[in-house]
Amino acid sequence: MTQSLSMPTPLSVLKQFWGYDQFLPLQQEAVDCILNRQDSVVILPTGGGKSLCFQLPVMLMTGTAVVISPLVALMKDQVDTLCSIGIEAGCYNSAMTSSERQDTIEKLRSGTLKLLYVSPERLGMEDFLVMLEECEIAYFVVDEAHCISQWGHDFRPEYREMGALRHRFPHVSIHAFTATATEPVRHDIARAMALKSPKWLVGSFHRPNLFYRAQYRTNVLTQVCDVLDRHPGEAGVIYCIRRADVDDLAKSLADKGYNVRPYHAGLPDKVRRENQDAFMAETVDIIVATIAFGMGIDRSNIRFVIHTGMPKSVESYQQEAGRAGRDRLEAECILFYSASDLAKWRSIMGPPQSEFDRVGHNKLYEMYVYCQRLGCRHRYLVEYFGQGFEPENCGTCDCCLGEHKPLPDSMLVAQKILSCVYRLQERFGGYYVSQVLKGGKNANVLQNGHDKLSTYGLLQDYKRLDIQSWIEQLVGQDYLEKDPEYSVIKLTSAGKRLLKGEGEVMLTQPAVKDKASKEGRSADRGDSWQGVDKALFEALRHARMTLAQERHVPPYVIFSDVSLREMARLKPTSLQGFRGIKGVGETKLRDLCPYFLQIILEYLGHDGSHGAAVAIERIPHEDSFQPVFRSAKSKNKPIPGRQSRSDTKRQAYEMFAREASLAEVRIETGRTEATVLEYLCDYLQELAITEPEPWLSTNTYEMIAQAFANVGTERMKPVFEYLNGLASYDDIRIARVLWDNRDML
Ligand code: ADP
Ligand code: ZN
Repeated sequence: MTQSLSMPTPLSVLKQFWGYDQFLPLQQEAVDCILNRQDSVVILPTGGGKSLCFQLPVMLMTGTAVVISPLVALMKDQVDTLCSIGIEAGCYNSAMTSSERQDTIEKLRSGTLKLLYVSPERLGMEDFLVMLEECEIAYFVVDEAHCISQWGHDFRPEYREMGALRHRFPHVSIHAFTATATEPVRHDIARAMALKSPKWLVGSFHRPNLFYRAQYRTNVLTQVCDVLDRHPGEAGVIYCIRRADVDDLAKSLADKGYNVRPYHAGLPDKVRRENQDAFMAETVDIIVATIAFGMGIDRSNIRFVIHTGMPKSVESYQQEAGRAGRDRLEAECILFYSASDLAKWRSIMGPPQSEFDRVGHNKLYEMYVYCQRLGCRHRYLVEYFGQGFEPENCGTCDCCLGEHKPLPDSMLVAQKILSCVYRLQERFGGYYVSQVLKGGKNANVLQNGHDKLSTYGLLQDYKRLDIQSWIEQLVGQDYLEKDPEYSVIKLTSAGKRLLKGEGEVMLTQPAVKDKASKEGRSADRGDSWQGVDKALFEALRHARMTLAQERHVPPYVIFSDVSLREMARLKPTSLQGFRGIKGVGETKLRDLCPYFLQIILEYLGHDGSHGAAVAIERIPHEDSFQPVFRSAKSKNKPIPGRQSRSDTKRQAYEMFAREASLAEVRIETGRTEATVLEYLCDYLQELAITEPEPWLSTNTYEMIAQAFANVGTERMKPVFEYLNGLASYDDIRIARVLWDNRDML
């Protein structure tokens, strides 16, 4: 590269292409490592900005960076994202046509391709390796590198093939990236890839934008709906352990009117793909899924992840829940669990027979500890991955916010439970024990004569479900244990001591919905919305969707929510103003910002179309008819003071979408007839509606259309006169918009 005064630097490239002013933690180090051609293992949590670390350096080097990525779907999105910021990238896989592949190879050979995405299998193919040897390779990147390790949770045998790379390309550096890697996995990665004294870069696992909660599962449908209702219109994933649960829950939610789709490996490929695509394209908000749904989900604005059962390890939980808030805006991760999940997993896994199995069982138990715990959840997760955690109170988990209140007479209640287990000779499960303590008239209890026990009805003042929850908590705290096969509850030695009053115990009251959880408090909720004009944000989101559909890319490829919120906060009114928005680089500034600028101007009323629309309002109804019809091209002066009306307009739009009448909207919004009519005309135009019902009867519309055909659409008065009082001026205005919209089809 030629040296010059204006030689690009990592920071200038960051600004020019990505539109960011600063690196996130460890990004700069990761970039430097690649520029220095030193092998590296980079572990950054989801949302830590891994892709940029390996996409940026090649812009300062000659040759092509080869990225090995496990999923074809993931590759395409990454390539689209790169192209959207003006970086030449391509993939090479079996899903492409041969001419597409040829095209990629030509760019690779000519050196114009900066990044090439391939699958690990591809690197096992001799022809392909030979071809690569003939090209200038800047460096190799292994994305999702944990797949290479048997100790990881996503082991993929084909990843092992890549060990050959080091020998084949001894002078090209190799860089491994992943979000989850415990100590053994990290070393396994370096060994399997034969990395040469790699640089280790391990980021913090703390994800302050995630709000963690865990609650005992009682009525899962109600619990799930509670969460959904505090995230209206937002994207989320609901994980279930079994496919049948996915089907049931998806159906129940759909029956209740939620915009959901199911996803699991048992669905036909086509359905699964359609559902995933709909979620990625943001036409569906909620996916109910097994863990089959995950890898390759790049949607960055997932605002909640619900688990209706406990995952089998903290690693899995971190990975699944971690899909929330990848854009680093606030998101909620809530887990509903029961001790039966523990039993379910144990029966799926079978009794441990090898070291590998034992590791699995330990991981399962550590997950259960997470569920049961009363201490900070962020701390537990961060410490689990071997890092320290400073804050006393994270402020973003149910435990730190005191959502689980201690039960005042914990010791007494615990002893009653333990004593009941003892009297039942440790031969029954949690459900049965809770029945006896509650004093239930369950047939089995009566048949077994357990209503005669001294402990029968000992906790009759409490809800049975709460009693069962305390039994769970005692299992979680090791005072009771559950037989893995039959779920029979037994006393541990610590439990026997507690019965004699030795030791301390703390049970919690059932999860209380405090103010924060009622309001759907997620991490930093208030802050990240501060100053954001939500109605404008919605308008921008709508525009993003339209553009994404036109270009056949997911909306986040256009702009992230972070960028849209900034636009809706700063409301730039010139292209220059967009330079200050996070995520706006040079290419997007030229390619996309004019479109978004137009939306903002229209919204602020600085645009011709609104100016004309305002003209309608200023003209008394049956008066002069000059500037009546809206012309999107006419340039009127900014109209001051219109911003304040945006919320009403939004409200009106929502009502129109529900087919409310003009009169209803007028009453609800308190605006004048003329204004509401203007809103309706805008609404019809923006949505390119051509169907007259319910605003005009088809008859009336056809009549007016006839008049348009005869006397033209330039002015309203001749149309009105032609119709001889059969239609009002309002009707004619509405009809005109519908008529014009036909051209938009
Ligand atoms: P990961 O792959 O580690 O989950 P991504 O590469 O998807 O993370 O990045 C997460 C989000 O952070 C993306 O929206 C990305 O555009 C954004 N991002 C990356 N680097 C920066 C940066 N330096 N400044 C601001 N945002 C960034
Ligand atoms: Zn906490």
